[in-house]
Amino acid sequence: MHEQTIAELKRGLSSGAFSSEELTRHYLERIERLDDTYKSYITVTKEAALAQARAADAARAGGDAAPLCGIPIAHKDIFCTRGVRTSCGSKMLDNFVPPYSATAVEKLEQAGCVMLGKTNMDEFAMGSSNENSYYGEVKNPWHIDSVPGGSSGGSAACVAAQLAAAATGTDTGGSIRQPASHCGITGIKPTYGRVSRWGMVAFASSLDQGGVLARNAEDAALVLQQMAGFDNRDSTSIDRPVEDYCQNLHAGIEGTVVGVPGEYFGEGLDSAVGAAVEAAIEQFEALGARIKAIHLPHTRLAVPAYYIIAPAECSANLSRFDGVRYGYRCSDPQDLDDLYKRSRGEGFGEEVKRRILVGTYALSAGYYDAYYSQAQKVRRLIKQDFVDAFSDVDVIAGPVAPSPAFRFGAKSRDPVAMYLEDIYTVPVSLAGLPGLSLPCGLAAGKPVGLQLIGNYFDEARLLNMAHRFQQATDHHRQRAAGID
Ligand code: GLN
Repeated sequence: MHEQTIAELKRGLSSGAFSSEELTRHYLERIERLDDTYKSYITVTKEAALAQARAADAARAGGDAAPLCGIPIAHKDIFCTRGVRTSCGSKMLDNFVPPYSATAVEKLEQAGCVMLGKTNMDEFAMGSSNENSYYGEVKNPWHIDSVPGGSSGGSAACVAAQLAAAATGTDTGGSIRQPASHCGITGIKPTYGRVSRWGMVAFASSLDQGGVLARNAEDAALVLQQMAGFDNRDSTSIDRPVEDYCQNLHAGIEGTVVGVPGEYFGEGLDSAVGAAVEAAIEQFEALGARIKAIHLPHTRLAVPAYYIIAPAECSANLSRFDGVRYGYRCSDPQDLDDLYKRSRGEGFGEEVKRRILVGTYALSAGYYDAYYSQAQKVRRLIKQDFVDAFSDVDVIAGPVAPSPAFRFGAKSRDPVAMYLEDIYTVPVSLAGLPGLSLPCGLAAGKPVGLQLIGNYFDEARLLNMAHRFQQATDHHRQRAAGID
């Protein structure tokens, strides 16, 4: 059963081939048996999952099956879940049990999904390798000595190891696309504002966006359909109808103009990754797309701008963790100052502290103009690059990450090397555009992802293109050795 896609599971459940309770037990048994190795889950909600599964079976028997009735999924531990610890990968929130669920979680619950548990992640979603989790690093199912990517590494690994049918994730600068790429699965980050951020622990509010990690584009479409939509509890949520992502999945892509930015194939790109991505672009040509060389001239400024803007926003967002209201509190504080300092000093990990320091510095009176305000101008230029490009092309294709999954420790001592992992994903985030990652081959036995970037609210086109590609190829069907 764990090999089946959501589309297949839906058929199996509705034909009565198996019940949601059987399916859920099967997944829970796999998690128990295999996840000691991968560490993709922080919390497994066994009893609640079984109760939800039984409720789904009862609803179906009563003729009231919601679109994802009885499908077992996992949520990144950044989404608040009522009554279930939401740690955000941090010691700071190790004891935090929210009294409410995020809108995205609520919507998927209403769509009938069963929650298997909460997935491991880099602390407060800061990282590209999952090495920053308080709960220990997640292992890449393809290569146990390598990182799964980050920050949604647990979500990516649990889908790749078939320990959930799909998982939610969040992407601030690449955290859905890059782990999807490193784990050989399909991930979509929709347009900023498409999925509600309400109840999602905030990292950098102008960039954070929820999305899906799944086995293939069709499954991603099925889940995103239920997650997306306006929410008046999130002031940046967009009040615009959600397109039907499944309706045009099978449509032909003849005549679609695919832009290929020269800047995404320059220095720093691993040659085997470049070759796999180029082969995938040729495959789109074979499917009838027209390929066009384009330029995104400010690409090289994206990482420096992102690593000012994201830390600046995080320094403000994380000021709420002060040891007073909720979260970690140091023991035996001497006075209020000591309470603040030690609660934050002991509760946050190294990367989070680095970002708070950088962000606070960049926002401080003497440096604001030199850093933050410059970064905002660069952000505008990067957005304009894309706006100009989309006047000529329908979609943009390129790599997701410069190299395949690297070994643990390879970059963790050099933050700049780690930040360069994000070179092809952060421009899209700064512009607020939708991006999709889909498997397009292997490099040194590890998965390589192709990134498709769409114009605003063009998620349906990205999913359609990815689906057509997946019908013509079988990269997405490849499994890591040892995943039975
Ligand atoms: N790797 C990037 C960072 O560390 C992106 C993280 C994310 O998208 N949440 O900030």
